[in-house]
Amino acid sequence: MKTKFIFVTGGVLSSLGKGLAAASLGALLQARGLSVTIQKLDPYMNVDPGTMNPFQHGEVFVTDDGAETDLDLGHYERYLNVPMTRKNNTTSGAIYNHVIAKERRGDYLGATVQVIPHITDEIKRVVLSLAEGDNAADVAIIEIGGTVGDIEGLPFLEAIRQLRSELGRDNCLSIHLTLVPYLRSAGEHKTKPTQHSVKELLSIGIQPDIILCRCEQSISEELRRKIALFCNVDHDAVFSSVDVSNIYEVPLKLYAEGFDQKVAIMLRLPARNALLENWEKLVHTCATPEKKITIAIVGKYVNLKEAYKSLHEALVHGGIANRVEVDLRYVNSEMIDESNAAENFCGCHGILVPGGFGYRGVEGKITAIRYARENHVPFFGICLGMQCAVIEFARHMANFADSNSEEFDPASQHKVIYLMKEWFDLRTNHLEKRDGGSNKGGTMRLGAYPCKILPETRAFAAYGESLVEERHRHRYEFNNAFKEALAEKGMVFSGVSPDDALVEIVEIPEHPWFLGCQFHPEFKSRPMKAHPLFREFIAAARRHAENP
Ligand code: GLN
Repeated sequence: MKTKFIFVTGGVLSSLGKGLAAASLGALLQARGLSVTIQKLDPYMNVDPGTMNPFQHGEVFVTDDGAETDLDLGHYERYLNVPMTRKNNTTSGAIYNHVIAKERRGDYLGATVQVIPHITDEIKRVVLSLAEGDNAADVAIIEIGGTVGDIEGLPFLEAIRQLRSELGRDNCLSIHLTLVPYLRSAGEHKTKPTQHSVKELLSIGIQPDIILCRCEQSISEELRRKIALFCNVDHDAVFSSVDVSNIYEVPLKLYAEGFDQKVAIMLRLPARNALLENWEKLVHTCATPEKKITIAIVGKYVNLKEAYKSLHEALVHGGIANRVEVDLRYVNSEMIDESNAAENFCGCHGILVPGGFGYRGVEGKITAIRYARENHVPFFGICLGMQCAVIEFARHMANFADSNSEEFDPASQHKVIYLMKEWFDLRTNHLEKRDGGSNKGGTMRLGAYPCKILPETRAFAAYGESLVEERHRHRYEFNNAFKEALAEKGMVFSGVSPDDALVEIVEIPEHPWFLGCQFHPEFKSRPMKAHPLFREFIAAARRHAENP
């Protein structure tokens, strides 16, 4: 097996940025000429995060192959620029589900099914699957969700403990990310939480090889030696990961510490220095914008920025491509009405309505869209945002006053957005065939689908291609019965499925930039290559700022 494994665990507390650290290490190893993949193991019991409320979990990141995954996979894709698949994320729920299904089939032949070895074996199988096939990556980074000491995380830690002994020292490396807080009153960094966390890991049988300390400022040589001594690691295997204002600086900061060098030496990886010019250029561009613009994001989850992670990043990427700093103003859609729209959007150079589920806040979104359309403010609607744009247009331009989505008003006479029966049946049949009828719940259109782009449209001006692939996560679709009526009033259907059955992009050519798409382009945006629609939206916002 050529693949080497790096296990990343977290200690002390959550939200230390384990995902970013793993993604940044991946980027550094890639810059050394290695192929890299990353997998996230989530200890919760949901089979996937698709059923979790965004307030609980943050964004659900959708892969090309239609998996609903943890938002860290978004970081992995953005830093590595390789598409993730359902193989790159699993949960305790999925592991147990698999083992219990096998037990029901009688596969364990009368044995008592236990956490060790059955659950741990299944975890090891999932991890090792990354090393299969001719195209297996040189390095697989495995990030274990949660914090060491959590009850749920134990089977995962036990599985990696076993893997370390089975695969051997040269093929496995364990990195522990901890917090080294700075106590202002004492005027010093504190190492005790790190020592305790490593002790906890040791009690499970895992000796970390490298300790990565999250801290406000770089820690002293003396402190590094102290941590190394008390945690049994090489004196040059303690690194600091300091707070940064721009997350794309993390790979450069870790490189400056010699982090990837140490990883490469310990894993005996080919010794080529990392080539990081593109990262340096990126950080320089971020630091030297020509202008600042403000984009309003009108949504329901505005108090939890994690819910719009990829969206946030895609807007930043659009800013990088246009040499502007993008200031995001999160506006709670439940607070918007006709009387306060102008006040709320004063000073905004673009308005974006993102995806979402449920009726709460929808009328505010529709009001925001009307404001953008009538006042020529660049508008970008994504998924539910596109659906709301269609509803707004049908209500106020085509005079279908009760127009709505079937999701919100099944009794409406003008359901411009509806559950497309043919598609719904097709999908349900497919799932029944695939999962033997056990999965009737999965009725969403998920994952990558092709989309034809019509020439001479804003969509075509952005993509410059007539066929693209974009990722979906929704149930409802545009209702073709209203296509003609809306087209007559000036709406253009610039993106459709190859068989013309599904509307994927709508736009209003009369407007400076008004576009809605049924898919989620934010998932495919990269820091070094902004998604074309985000690039063009921000370009329009910049024009609006310069020439209101
Ligand atoms: N609720 C809408 C649907 O299911 C939109 C979903 C979304 O924005 N992701 O079609």
